[in-house]
Formats: sequence, C-alpha cells, structure tokens
Amino acid sequence: MLGIRRLLLTCRPGFRLQHTAIAVKNEPILEFKQGSSERQALKEALNEQKGQTLEVPCVIGGESVWTNEIQYQLCPFNHSHKVAKFCYADKDLINKAINAALSAHREWDLKPVEDRAQIFFKAADLISGSRRAELLARTMIGQGKTVIQAEIDAAAELIDFFRFNAKHAVDLQHEQPISEPPSTNSTLYRSLEGFVAAVSPFNFTAIGGNLAGAPALMGNVVVWKPSDTAMAASYTVYKILLEAGLPPNVIQFVPSDGPLFGETITESEHLAGINFTGSVPTFKHLWKLVSKKLDKYRTFPRLSGECGGKNFHFVHKSADIGSVVNGTIRSAFEYGGQKCSACSRMYVPDSLWPEIKKNLLEEQKKIKVGNPVDDFETFFSAVIDNKSFARIKKWIEHAQSSPNLTIISGGKYDDNIGYFVEPSIIETKDPQDPIMKEEIFGPIVTVYVYPETKYQEILHLIDTSTPYGLTGSVFAQDENVIAEASKILRYSAGNFYINDKSTGSVVAQQPFGGARISGTNDKAGGPHYILRWTSPQSVKETHVPLTKWRYPYMD
Ligand code: NAD
Repeated sequence: MLGIRRLLLTCRPGFRLQHTAIAVKNEPILEFKQGSSERQALKEALNEQKGQTLEVPCVIGGESVWTNEIQYQLCPFNHSHKVAKFCYADKDLINKAINAALSAHREWDLKPVEDRAQIFFKAADLISGSRRAELLARTMIGQGKTVIQAEIDAAAELIDFFRFNAKHAVDLQHEQPISEPPSTNSTLYRSLEGFVAAVSPFNFTAIGGNLAGAPALMGNVVVWKPSDTAMAASYTVYKILLEAGLPPNVIQFVPSDGPLFGETITESEHLAGINFTGSVPTFKHLWKLVSKKLDKYRTFPRLSGECGGKNFHFVHKSADIGSVVNGTIRSAFEYGGQKCSACSRMYVPDSLWPEIKKNLLEEQKKIKVGNPVDDFETFFSAVIDNKSFARIKKWIEHAQSSPNLTIISGGKYDDNIGYFVEPSIIETKDPQDPIMKEEIFGPIVTVYVYPETKYQEILHLIDTSTPYGLTGSVFAQDENVIAEASKILRYSAGNFYINDKSTGSVVAQQPFGGARISGTNDKAGGPHYILRWTSPQSVKETHVPLTKWRYPYMD
C-alpha cells in the first residue's frame, strides 16, 4: 500500500488528493426477544459461565504471568460466586510490562494505519458475531448488568468504538496541508513517543476496550490496568484483540493495585500519556503525581480523563410529563445509577410536582431489582461491590437523619446475597444539601421542588451548585425557555439533552465527555478523540536546489 507521503509526491502540485471516506454504521442493538437466536446464544453462554471462575493472569510481553497476590472478582448480585481469579502485578512486573511495550513501539508505530485499523475492524466483527454472547454474559455476571445494559455496552458501544475510531484513523491520513511548488508538504500522524497507560473503570466494558484500544490504533504501545471489578470482561476483550491480530506486545494486560500502578507508571521517563476513566479523586491524584515528577519525562505526558458527574434533569412548567417520568426512571435507575451520566438531581416546578410525583412513585413500584441472569424482567441489579454498597448506604442514612430530606420511595438495602439497593426517590427542601452536589453512583435521585415562576434562578443554581459539568437535560415545550436554558447551562454539561434523558450517548452520534471537574472532555466516540493519541510531524520536501541565500530587497 502506498504511504501517504509517497502518494502526495506522485501528485502534481495543486492536485487535491481524492479520498473516499470509509463508510461505517452504528451496530444494531439486538432485542433478545423470546425465541430469537441471540437470546438462545446468550442463555447458553450464561449457563456455561454460571458458577465458573475465570482464571485471569497478567499478560506481559505475550506471556501469562501469575504472582502471589491473588485477588477475586465477585458477582455483585451473588457475592458467593467468584467470577474471576486474578493476581496483582508487583512493581517489577509493571516495569517489565513498560519495557516489553517500549520494545514493540517502533515497529508498531511504523505499521501502515490501514493495517492497524484492520485489526480493530476484525475485533469489532468478532464481537458482533461469534464472541458476542460470551462477552455479554461476562459483563452481566461480572458487573451485574441486565441483558440490554450489557448489549448497549459490551456489544454495541465497543463495536462502534473500534469501527468508528478505525475509520477516523484512516480518514485522518488524508487531512494534509497545502503544498506550494516547488515544495510538497505532508503530515505524518506519528504515535506519542513512549508508552500510554490506560486505566479503566468498572462500569463499562466498552470503556476499557476504548481506553487501551484507541491509543494502540494510533500506533502507541499501551500498558492497560483494568478494573478489579470488570476483570473477566476486560480479559475477554483483550483476548479478542489478540485473536483479531493485535501483536502480543502492543497492549500489556496488567491487573494491579491502583495506587501502586499509578506510582510506578509515573516513575518512568517514557510515560507519554495516561488515558483514564474513573472518579475525580483518582484522576486528580494521577495528575498531581505527573506534575510532581514532571522533570523526569522525555515528553509532556498527555493526560486524558473522563470522570464523575452530578447530572441534572431540569423540568419547566411547559414540560411533557410522560417524558419527564420515563426519562427520569431510566436515567436515574438503569444499571443502578452506576453510569457517569445518571440523573441524580432533579428540579421540578411546584405546579407539576403532584402529578410527576404520583407517576414516579407508581412506576418506581414496578421496577424489579434482582438477578439479571435468572430473571430477564429485572430492570437493574445489585451495585458493584461492598465499598459501593457502604457508600450508598451512608447517603440513605444521611437522608433518614436530615430534616431537609424525605425519602418518598425506596430507601431499603440488603447485602445478604448481593449488594442490593432499592430505587430511591428523595425530596429535599434545601437545593444546597450535599446530596444535591456530590456524586453518589447508586440508584438514588433527589428532587427539589421550586416555585414555577423562579425557573431562571433555578437554572443559575443548577449551573453553580456543583463543580461538575458532565450531562444534563432540560424538559420544556416552550422554545424560548429551551433557548434561555441552553445559554445559562452552556458550561453545565458536556452532553446536553433537550426533552430526553441524561444518559445513553451513542458513539458518533453524541460524542461523550464533560469539562469542569468531570474531565478533559476529549469526546470519546467522536472524530477528534484519536487526535489525543498522535503527535503529528510536519514534513516539507523541496524538489529544486537551493541556489541563493540573499533576498531581492538586499540588492
Ligand atoms: P475509580 O476512580 O475508583 O477507579 C478507576 C480506575 O482507577 C480503576 O481501575 C482503579 O483501580 C484505578 N485506580 C484507583 N486508584 C488509583 C491510583 N492511585 N492510581 C492509578 N489508578 C488507580 O472509579 P470506578 O469506581 O471504577 O468508576 C466509577 C467512576 O468513574 C465514577 O466517578 C464515574 O462517574 C466515573 N466514570 C466516568 C465516565 C465518563 O466518561 N465521564 C465513564 C464511566 C465512569
């Protein structure tokens, strides 16, 4: 295949390189209806994995390695089931992974982007086809997702990330500078020089694949630390990438203790980037480590972090009540509120509150919380682990003891079999209560009822009462109010919805990310995301001899 530079050299000056962009579509979301083949395949995979403990080694330099620091991933809705047995890499092993990655860097970076892209297209095809059911089952059992939540994450979103990123990477090669005779100019999209550390969260299988995959696609070598509580699904994604042709050293699979991993990667002079998704405190900690050690590095490490949110639903008196109720039930409670975009604070005008409250309480009663594998009617399952359970419990206790707060439905929890928390709706008299400001990451939504004429004040309150800026929704039929709200809330949300819920972004349709303390807003799933993982080189080549050094004005 002709390299882009050679292609340009073969062009006459002034000729614009013709390029037909690769066509890619979003992966269709399967429905898993009774009698469907996808339902049958998923049931078989779930049966096969029931009670199974997957052995997950560290994979360093293409070799499986076990250390003595054995850990287990537990099933959230049945914590007696060990889903995966894995081990933590120690400091030496993390350093070994860095060196193994670095040794593969030059060859991988020089590989034509089309060849790298093919691997990701192939991985997407495997997930779309023969490996779909297995990966969905791992995500359901390991991370406590329902069928549809696993499907939109581990299948649809991950496939879309791989395909769209690959398309964008190939298309990018055709973004070239202009050339003026007698020179030709070109841009080479090199990878970053060094290694990229990918640190992924528990709540999306797709995010792990993207955090490690996108830099690798752009020619980087990656040291991937998956989340302890998404280990089985992350390992499955890693194996699929290898099966698709990813050379063994390009991504090192390094389960490890978070703080030790952070300390060790930031010690290396070759750290070229960190691709992180998780909580604000962890990202701030990594950023501080990097700045403390800045003088060590050969290059400024590129830091990309997508963090938490305190996402809002603002309801105006002109809103459609059905949209508010259905949108809020889904956004606040799907996956037990463990989406960074989940609605956790809501502002409702007093004129609409009686009806919205009645409908919300009616619908809340219909929600089934349980075992998503044995009962497909389950709407959401247990929260991820005991730490998360304890944190959510504290918020419920706070609501029970605070005179400003009333739990109007839910509020019970039980961790005997799994880490179950009821979908809970709380009403607050104080819009500045901590429950309206801090991330909870559980199935709790708090409502503040405001005098309907004061909606402008409420919009300013939404904008200023939390330091987050991830997602938010405005429910209103009045176009003037929508325009007004869009202006006031311009920086309150990186993903802003009008008459829709605050969750459910789709790759290439609503590129995702927020600013303020919610992250660096690099918009995963959009065309610009991959630019974070390239360090372009501009090349000018002159095709005639340089004959003089003096300028005409000097004569
Ligand atoms: P977390 O911060 O606890 O962990 C994220 C990852 O960081 C894990 O792999 C963890 O082991 C690792 N880690 C922990 N301490 C570390 C350290 N000192 N150095 C290096 N790595 C360390 O987050 P989580 O509980 O896995 O995920 C939930 C959080 O992620 C929520 O705050 C949620 O809002 C956020 N999130 C954001 C987005 C987004 O796109 N904005 C998407 C998903 C999740």
